[in-house]
Amino acid sequence: MVVVMDIGAGEAQIEAVIATLNDHGFDVHRSSGSQRTVLGAVGVKRDFDKRHIELLDGVYTVHRVSEPYKFAARSWKEEPTRAVVKDVIIGGEEVIVMAGPCSVESEEQIHASARAVAAAGARILRGGAFKPRSSPYSFQGLGEEGLVMMREAADTHGLAVVTELMDPAHADLMARHTDMVQIGARNMQNFPLLRVAGQLGLPVLLKRGMSASIEEWLMSAEYILAENNPNVVLCERGIRTFETMTRNTLDLSAVPVVKARSHLPVIVDPSHGIGIRNKVLPMARAGVAAGADGLMIEVHPDPDVALSDGPQSLHFPQFDELMRQVRLIAEAIGRSVA
Ligand code: PEP
Ligand code: MN
Repeated sequence: MVVVMDIGAGEAQIEAVIATLNDHGFDVHRSSGSQRTVLGAVGVKRDFDKRHIELLDGVYTVHRVSEPYKFAARSWKEEPTRAVVKDVIIGGEEVIVMAGPCSVESEEQIHASARAVAAAGARILRGGAFKPRSSPYSFQGLGEEGLVMMREAADTHGLAVVTELMDPAHADLMARHTDMVQIGARNMQNFPLLRVAGQLGLPVLLKRGMSASIEEWLMSAEYILAENNPNVVLCERGIRTFETMTRNTLDLSAVPVVKARSHLPVIVDPSHGIGIRNKVLPMARAGVAAGADGLMIEVHPDPDVALSDGPQSLHFPQFDELMRQVRLIAEAIGRSVA
């Protein structure tokens, strides 16, 4: 931590700041220039609240130097994490595509989706059985019945399964029916749920909260990693901004930034990110070009009658074309898509 004192801060003020830092367990290195004194505070306190120092008399500003997260940091683990989801590795050379409907709606719908996305090269079937809907009157998902349908459809077509965990009470159901649990944007800071996801032993797909900073997102990953679960994959799915012409603003700049700070794989969800069917493809291309380790794409056999997120769900031929184009982008940057 670096403490910059006010121009003209008095000796008594400087001494008081040093004493407070010492009281909190920091070693302090002092350097005084012609105008200002700067204090370098060295310690191991990741969770130290720098406001304890900011509010002292004579302090101009305080900067943290080390990250507040530990297990998620590149400085803790240099080599990239490869998350293992059944027989699929996320974070290697292959760009992994997860695709399927927003919600599991029927046996017919999930089987048709699994068949189409597997044929096009997706490796993981997505679909919600417990849905986080903004309105309590909207379709909430088929529950366990949906999980069973999705498991069967995925097994028939050689896909792994990812689905959202909304409630700690559903942990056992997840353990029985899925290969990876998704923590949705609305639950990114549901800390008890993050702990349960960490304890499940399944890989976790952690979506970025819609108003979460990158640091907050990595702190949420830290909750899962701290439960001794190393299989965490981050998913950028768009954040809320002032823009109204798109559902969200897909923050692709998060991809290289997270990769510099963390060893965890990052995937991009352009479906929720932009929320407009005919604009998902260019953002999927851009996600791969930005260095994403995978994509999550919503598709539906008949999007116009989907029970959730139809307007952002692709028709099967559109998904085929998306796969064709992202394969070209992947190859251009030395990666591949199945
Ligand atoms: C979803 O994947 O269908 C979903 C609800 O996503 P998010 O949590 O990103 O809104
Ligand atoms: Mn959705």
